[in-house]
Amino acid sequence: MRYDLLIKGGRVIDPAQNIDDKRDIAISGDKISAVARDIPSLESQQIIDASDKIVTPGLIDMHCHVYHGGTKGGVNPDAAGVRQGVTTLVDAGSAGEATFGGLPKYVIPSARTTVFCFLHLGSQGLTVVPELRDREEINLEATAETIEANLDLIKGIKLRLVGNVVTSDGVEVVKMAKQTAKKFGLPVMVHIGDVKKQISPTLTQEFLPLMEPGDILSHVYTAQMGSILRPDDTIMPELREAMERGVILDVAEACNFSSEVARKALAQDIFPTTLSTDVGLPSITGPVYGLTVTMSRFLALGLDMKQLVEKTTINPARALRIDNSKGNLKPGMDADVSVLELRSGTWELVDAEQQVTETDTLLAPSITVKSGQLIPAKPVAQPKPIN
Ligand SMILES: [Zn+2]
Repeated sequence: MRYDLLIKGGRVIDPAQNIDDKRDIAISGDKISAVARDIPSLESQQIIDASDKIVTPGLIDMHCHVYHGGTKGGVNPDAAGVRQGVTTLVDAGSAGEATFGGLPKYVIPSARTTVFCFLHLGSQGLTVVPELRDREEINLEATAETIEANLDLIKGIKLRLVGNVVTSDGVEVVKMAKQTAKKFGLPVMVHIGDVKKQISPTLTQEFLPLMEPGDILSHVYTAQMGSILRPDDTIMPELREAMERGVILDVAEACNFSSEVARKALAQDIFPTTLSTDVGLPSITGPVYGLTVTMSRFLALGLDMKQLVEKTTINPARALRIDNSKGNLKPGMDADVSVLELRSGTWELVDAEQQVTETDTLLAPSITVKSGQLIPAKPVAQPKPIN
């Protein structure tokens, strides 16, 4: 037999290769071997019938919390990952330098999902929330040492613009994170949205000019203090400038996503670069669920399938600089593939502001192929259709 696995007859959407058509995908070992219109079944050991399904490069979730057992909000990586069509995910700052050790030692080796991390600027990460209660929680030297020792896993520095130190020192905290990340050529990932309303109301305008191409703005559609919308609902010019120079706008849904802000921003051509969930405990049982639900929300907001897949495959792969092995289905790439289905019915998707968006289409995971291995989808929970 030429191939180990053949995914046959699906609608393949691979925006990096500009493919949206019926294709077969053949896998040998843990790599993509061929993509063609008709690959004979006889040439493969195992076959997945993907007719009526959507087949995409393995989905990448740019923002999750998966320090399971190490932080209160951490879910098992496979629950956020391969069990719902996501083959690679990013832990966004659950760990800081003092608490990082358990991730590579215990969490990552026991997961089938590939996990990368952004290291929190605060030494304790998100073991105590809100973090950065005082300046003692920042140790730039130890942070740099941890990054240097884990460059295969750590893709940047995470910082949340909340808490005492940010309230008192404002933009200086962003500068500290930038300086440390830059030593390693890495980006910063900055959370906006302060539920407690303690930060300076002009902080987002002040720090955005510091963001460079490749830096990541998390919770771009937050309705909380620090939002990109001005009081008259227009977009602050600093955000548009940041987007135009290549700052990555990430959704990071969870507790900081407003569909109303998203609607207003999309109407002003502020599109997300990447879609991500910010999923953790307890949001995995709703209202966030997982990445295909976040994609469904943006389908309801008017994005098309190609845009949804682009923002969950090649765009995050580029942001993480792993696009030489993931994010598309070219032969030679890692055999990470998501088989999804579009369901019809009526669903009410609730956002962080308790606003409800009704949709008649839900994208749902069917089968995950991770490193050439077939894993049936088994999400912890999915939205229930209403009658
Ligand atoms: Zn988060």
